[in-house]
Amino acid sequence: SDFPEVAARLVRAIEDWPEAGVTFRDITPLLAAPEGLRATVDALVDAARAFGPLDVVAGVEARGFLLAPLIAEALGIGLVPVRKAGKLPARTLAENYSLEYGEAVVEIHADAVTEGARVLLVDDVLATGGTLAASRRLFERAGAEVAGGLVLIELPALGGRDALGDLALTALLEY
Ligand code: IMP
Repeated sequence: SDFPEVAARLVRAIEDWPEAGVTFRDITPLLAAPEGLRATVDALVDAARAFGPLDVVAGVEARGFLLAPLIAEALGIGLVPVRKAGKLPARTLAENYSLEYGEAVVEIHADAVTEGARVLLVDDVLATGGTLAASRRLFERAGAEVAGGLVLIELPALGGRDALGDLALTALLEY
């Protein structure tokens, strides 16, 4: 795969954003370039197939929404959004998780998956792992089987893999 080379060139580091001391990994140039989007989709679809049979790809708001549909469509399976609080119209399940300052909530529709469905969680970046861990709890409460998590970028210094416990996690790139 030419993903590592293409991503090294097209993922942009923004220093001191959203606050001082943070280096934000920005995937927008990667997706904006035709060869970047192509390499990203190819690498994500290959990595998703390695999880075995899947029924649903779950995209985490907001940047997971840019990636999950590309995978789901290529695999011929369904797509479920994991949303921030208050966005979904029907009955929901909700999970809280901690941010550096305060708390956040993610939700799915209570009927988003069928019992035993194999779900792959997708986001752009794994940092502390709080978002993906909360997403996993949602699908387990809904009766699904979470096959694993797939991210473009892992920031290993922030310990996200440990926060995910025994969840199988594939990252295409580390910074
Ligand atoms: P976590 O819950 O600490 O793992 O943070 C992951 C969430 O924050 C994901 O939804 C990411 O989109 C977002 N995030 C954290 N750091 C970055 C970054 O450097 N670039 C893009 N998104 C990030």
